[in-house]
Amino acid sequence: MEQCVFCKIVNKEIPSEIIYENDKICVFKDINPKAPVHILIVPKKHTESLNELDEREKDLLGEMVLAAKKTAKDFGISDGYKLLFNVGKKGGQIVEHLHLHLLGGW
Ligand code: 5GP
Ligand code: ZN
Repeated sequence: MEQCVFCKIVNKEIPSEIIYENDKICVFKDINPKAPVHILIVPKKHTESLNELDEREKDLLGEMVLAAKKTAKDFGISDGYKLLFNVGKKGGQIVEHLHLHLLGGW
């Protein structure tokens, strides 16, 4: 099956501005920023959305949120930022690979 765009970024098949990665997650700049700082926190394993996760993935979710907090600090926006999961088409999700938006820098 054709890989999704975020799987291609995770696998370095298409370029992106990667800020941080480890064995579970990848943090990179959004290509079309909706805020002065707009960064995406993405699990390396393909999962469509938050709706596919349960208790087994709570460590992964915690890691994503803490990575967002750390990234906010590294970008000097700790004093104010938003974290956002869009879930499903009706929720504004376009890329069907779980991701957490970090928005700030206004
Ligand atoms: P969604 O609306 O699915 O929650 O957000 C998807 C986000 O992914 C959008 O903000 C969009 O700009 C970003 N995006 C889509 N394609 C690419 C890409 O190829 N590279 C990067 N870095 N971001 C992308
Ligand atoms: Zn994917």
